[in-house]
Amino acid sequence: MTERGRGGGAGCCAGDIRPEERGPEGRLSDILLIALGLGMTIPILAIESCNLFGAGHLPVLVLATPVQFLVGWKFYFGTYRSISAGRLDMNVLVVTSTTLAYSYSVYGTFRGGTTFFEASATVLTLMSIGEYLEHLAQGKVSYAVRKLMQLQPRTARTIQNGKPVDVDICRIAAGDTVLVKAGERIPVDGTVLEGTSSVDESMITGESIPVDKGAGDCVIGGTVNRNGILQVEATGVGERSALSQITRLVREAQESKAPVQRMADRAVSYFVPLVLMISLFAFLAWFLFAGQTLAFSLTVAVTILVIACPCALGIAVPTVIMVGLGRGAEMGILFKNAGALERTGRISTVALDKTGTLTLGEPELTDVVSGGGWSREDILGMAGNAECHSDHPLARAMVRAAGKSHSHNCDCTSFAAIPGYGVEGTCGNRTVLVGSRKLLMLKGLEPQDSLLDAASRLESRGKTTVFVAVDGEVAGVLALSDTLKPSSKEAVERLQAMNIRTIIVTGDNERTSKSIGLEAGIGRVMHGLSPMQKAETVQELKKEGGVVAMVGDGINDAPALARADVGMAIGSGTDIAIDAGDIVIVKSDLRNVSQAIGLSRRAMSKINQNLAFSLLYNSVGIAVAAGLLFPLTHQLVLSPLVAAIAEVLSDFIVIGNALLLRWYNP
Ligand code: ADP
Ligand code: MG
Repeated sequence: MTERGRGGGAGCCAGDIRPEERGPEGRLSDILLIALGLGMTIPILAIESCNLFGAGHLPVLVLATPVQFLVGWKFYFGTYRSISAGRLDMNVLVVTSTTLAYSYSVYGTFRGGTTFFEASATVLTLMSIGEYLEHLAQGKVSYAVRKLMQLQPRTARTIQNGKPVDVDICRIAAGDTVLVKAGERIPVDGTVLEGTSSVDESMITGESIPVDKGAGDCVIGGTVNRNGILQVEATGVGERSALSQITRLVREAQESKAPVQRMADRAVSYFVPLVLMISLFAFLAWFLFAGQTLAFSLTVAVTILVIACPCALGIAVPTVIMVGLGRGAEMGILFKNAGALERTGRISTVALDKTGTLTLGEPELTDVVSGGGWSREDILGMAGNAECHSDHPLARAMVRAAGKSHSHNCDCTSFAAIPGYGVEGTCGNRTVLVGSRKLLMLKGLEPQDSLLDAASRLESRGKTTVFVAVDGEVAGVLALSDTLKPSSKEAVERLQAMNIRTIIVTGDNERTSKSIGLEAGIGRVMHGLSPMQKAETVQELKKEGGVVAMVGDGINDAPALARADVGMAIGSGTDIAIDAGDIVIVKSDLRNVSQAIGLSRRAMSKINQNLAFSLLYNSVGIAVAAGLLFPLTHQLVLSPLVAAIAEVLSDFIVIGNALLLRWYNP
């Protein structure tokens, strides 16, 4: 993992745009060199083809020399770097081919033989153009990061002495109040204090329908306030803002290498020496065995080297990965690394958490059943008290129902959360236990039959039950109902239509889970699992074969997310700083799971297309360059010049195919 918040300026703003993300500007030296190359090569081609100076090649030598060493400098340097790193890359091919052509031509100039300065000059110029195009494409693929950073407003409006004042965004701190007018971008993550409006969050969550916001709602920096004036208390600023975190995730992912990329790199590392050998072999064959002239044989050797520059092979994978990661971010799907993008397309089983993943995670308290001398108010009051430090959705519902506000007026002296089971607290002079039946069993408590009956009755209606025990005695049972997210059923259907197995893994009891499963259309339900048991279940599923994904909310699902082949953490707006898992789904909508899989499948097919095309292009190109068609045509079909043009075109095709992914729409 890279260090946090790199490039964060003075530790305030969303970060700086890096040179490679800035696009074509700032590469003036490259443009000048290309201009120099063209300025020399065009006269060379004219002189050679019109035979302007009779037999004299000296003027061409004069023109070709700066191209060879000035325009060609970076290839020489690249060759030096590549060889000293113990590998051979495409620079080696460019340098070998052009140096051969150039040296032979110098020799020819003074000995009155053939020259092909036009070949070396054209190859170098075209290769420089090709390389420049790759840089342009790189700028194009990091458009995702650039676009994200441009979302960050530079200033925010605060109230000072009752008057609105614009201040630099870097000077805003958490707790400040900012004013956002209609049509403006919200400058910080925050909570609405006053006003109502509908906010367009599509740039962050991928959700195209604007979201209504009122007092108490969270807003995300970078989103657009469409109507109404909002007063927002800043909570996340600078590097802690959702926007910077998304930017950081996308960058880190784009810097990582996918396994398929390593494979392609290895292919390139074998490819270059192979081509050098083929070229040498072809030269010897034509010169020694076929009795051709030195010039002819050398042309063949040089053409092979030029056409085989494995640029297309080298960029086939990374361009697709970069564009895929960027497109994911646009849809609100943050892949944390390139490997995750690759694995996601192969997912065959999706395990889903229930609370907060399939369901809204905003349960409402519906019933309170007392089982002894306690009043229902007492039971609810004690539960609300014991839960007031817990962040669990069930806990929040109980606290709300008990009329308390979270973490305030809480009179419990000790508190312990038992993830996946419940909580234990000392309130006043009583020990209060709130949690599942398994928690009671764990503590050696047995509820009376009347409570067990009440619980099963409530559970069969899809409600989650929670027992309350006081001082070692079960006092009552609470029922909470959590509804399915409106999109969950459709999301499950989409997965099943893609032939992907779905399964619920939950800590909740059997009856409730099965009833939710029925509603969502999932037949296989694993219930009563602790966070560790969820991880073990994922492990079991992996043993059944295939690639297993776990989708969870990241609170108590972290072990399972980590154990899965692909862990998908469901975020909610500003909460994307989720450490567990390989993918963060910004919007809490499960349809993004099938979209992620679709995107990954498309990216992988683009990679395969690109690799197949590069291989085909190279093998056909090399064969033709080696003179395979010579017996038919009685002349060479390819010259180094045509080979260089073909090479640049093949780059174009690979880059263009990758960029198509930008418009992927599931
Ligand atoms: P899920 O797997 O559906 O997300 P959890 O693992 O969070 O559910 O919880 C499993 C069960 O443990 C809940 O259904 C509930 O009975 C109990 N539980 C967990 N946390 C709490 C809590 N803070 N208060 C009461 N009960 C809890
Ligand atoms: Mg959960």
